[in-house]
Amino acid sequence: MPSTLPPSSLTFLGTGTSVGVPVIGCDCAVCLSDDPKNTRLRSSVILRSGETTLLVDTGPDLRQQALTHQLTAIDAVLYTHEHVDHVAGFDELRAFCWRRDEPLPLYATPDCLKALTQMYGWAFGGQTQYKGYVRVAPIEIIAPFEIAGIRVTPLPVLHGSVTVIGFRFDLPEGVSLSYIPDIKELPPSTLPLITDSDILIIDALGDKIHPTHMSTGEAIQVARDANVKATYFTHMGHGVDLSGRIDLPPHFSYAYDGLTLPLS
Ligand SMILES: [Zn+2]
Ligand SMILES: [Zn+2]
Ligand SMILES: [Zn+2]
Repeated sequence: MPSTLPPSSLTFLGTGTSVGVPVIGCDCAVCLSDDPKNTRLRSSVILRSGETTLLVDTGPDLRQQALTHQLTAIDAVLYTHEHVDHVAGFDELRAFCWRRDEPLPLYATPDCLKALTQMYGWAFGGQTQYKGYVRVAPIEIIAPFEIAGIRVTPLPVLHGSVTVIGFRFDLPEGVSLSYIPDIKELPPSTLPLITDSDILIIDALGDKIHPTHMSTGEAIQVARDANVKATYFTHMGHGVDLSGRIDLPPHFSYAYDGLTLPLS
């Protein structure tokens, strides 16, 4: 009997670096461009598999992203790290909590959970939770785990001087996807975890070398080392102009806000 479940997919809610594109006050060609592919909200994705919807990161643009994509229900939030461009939309989770009986599962490393608790203590206070506030069920990521048949493997990576994580998702239908929005260096121990992914989505700030993010060239090398089938770049700055001709090797693409990748 054919499945009646909707096809699995990943949608880019945002593909921009921490300040977004256009950059406030910048009059460069990309920031002034009217090509929608040159407008980048802060990096975040939703992964849909069967009846399950996972949100990765809650950046400052979450409200706008949810309205644009008619995102009304999520089953869990996964955090890559606590930098402000990945967590500042935390309070927008209220609207998703109103529509559920149970607290919203929130997966993050112990360090990231500690930071979130300091930033948004009211959501983690247990008995002090009022109706209408964000109500979360925090879950520490210390090893691979599973959500509704989706195998999730944390991917430790270096992001400047700090270690953060990406995620590898292995879907029930056999598709594998690795998502690493913030990375400067891939530790040798993480390489086998992303190797042979069907899809790699990785930080590529632009062509210039940067202390905390990969350049496009560095990201291409990681993808080649990992032997992935297709690679999409994200977390891009205003140095990346997608309005004209784009020179990338085969199987490499720049992502853009609203792009949906079918995963079935
Ligand atoms: Zn970031
Ligand atoms: Zn600019
Ligand atoms: Zn970061």
